[in-house]
Amino acid sequence: MNLSSYIEVDLKQFKKNLLIIKENLKDSLFCLPVKANAYGHGLVEIAKVAQDEKVVDYLACATLEEGKMLRDANIKIPILMLGSFFEDQIEDLIKNDLEVTISSFLKAKIIKDFCDKNNKKCKVHLKIDTGMKRIGVRPQTAEKLLEFLNNEDCFIIKGIFSHFACAENKDHPFNQIQLNEFSSFIKQVNPPKDVLCHLANSAGVLYFENGYFDMVRPGALAYGCYTANMPEKFEGIKSIFSLKSRVSFFKVVNENEGISYSHTYVTKNKTRILTIPIGYGDGYFRSLSNKAKVLINGRKYPIVGTICMDQLMVDIQNDSVFVDDEVVLIGKQKDQEISLLDIAELLHTVTYEILCSFNKRLARIYKN
Ligand SMILES: *Cc1c(COP(=O)(O)O)cnc(C)c1O
Repeated sequence: MNLSSYIEVDLKQFKKNLLIIKENLKDSLFCLPVKANAYGHGLVEIAKVAQDEKVVDYLACATLEEGKMLRDANIKIPILMLGSFFEDQIEDLIKNDLEVTISSFLKAKIIKDFCDKNNKKCKVHLKIDTGMKRIGVRPQTAEKLLEFLNNEDCFIIKGIFSHFACAENKDHPFNQIQLNEFSSFIKQVNPPKDVLCHLANSAGVLYFENGYFDMVRPGALAYGCYTANMPEKFEGIKSIFSLKSRVSFFKVVNENEGISYSHTYVTKNKTRILTIPIGYGDGYFRSLSNKAKVLINGRKYPIVGTICMDQLMVDIQNDSVFVDDEVVLIGKQKDQEISLLDIAELLHTVTYEILCSFNKRLARIYKN
């Protein structure tokens, strides 16, 4: 392998994560969100593993393009489109057998119009807004909308769902309110058995066993990037993501010398400076300059100076490191680790955003 920098995805651990989730679901189905390039891990590869392992029953996407890519790659399992859609996308959504989210009367009507005109049917999930205030109808209006869907032949009702707003804080009082809203709506409309009721994201799966209903949708948990407050039965779940590079250059720099653009770092003593061929052009944030560390030979070293588009510099003092030595920017090396959470905390964000930030220049390498 002659790559300079790359993302390594641990498929063995991914399969383990899927199994641990599945084992804890009892009879509920498992919908794996693969939106945003499967949280950066590679849309098609991840979907193929999920399909072949036969642990996952559904996939969930955010955009038409993601759904199309999956169908073009011969993914056959049901795919739910989580977001809203536009009128000019309906034809392609139906053609690719993508299950559409109905989030308002208007959205339902434009589907009905399309289907009537073209003699088509459309698989749909009704989205109830129980408090996220993103997409979806209020429970009070949802009953009427469900009646409309039931009365029109063009709709094949596959599911009814909602989404937690605050579940990452398991003690947040709003969780119970949403859970109650959703439960009582389901009780009230009493849908037939083949309509899947689903609510729980990763946090919901971790903290609200009584919120599993017929299906769950844990994304972050499946990729092992949800690590806070893990209940014991999920503890085997681990991150499957590593960001790696190798040393490309070495030089000795005298004391009191500036490093990289704007000389934001000045050496305190004569020291050894490495260059690593990765930068913000790959999605490794420039705002990690003079903050983040990297692992080389199982030791942590600081990134010094401004991170460039394609390269960054590391200070190793008097240690001995060679060109070609492996550099781990996220992940494990020997007994040391720089976790996704370490990087997320430095940037005051969530692990999700870190995973989604790496772009196509970094190849995804899959390790079995
Ligand atoms: C992204 C998303 C999920 C998955 O969320 P995680 O926190 O990654 O488990 C579930 N449901 C909906 C509607 C989503 O948009």
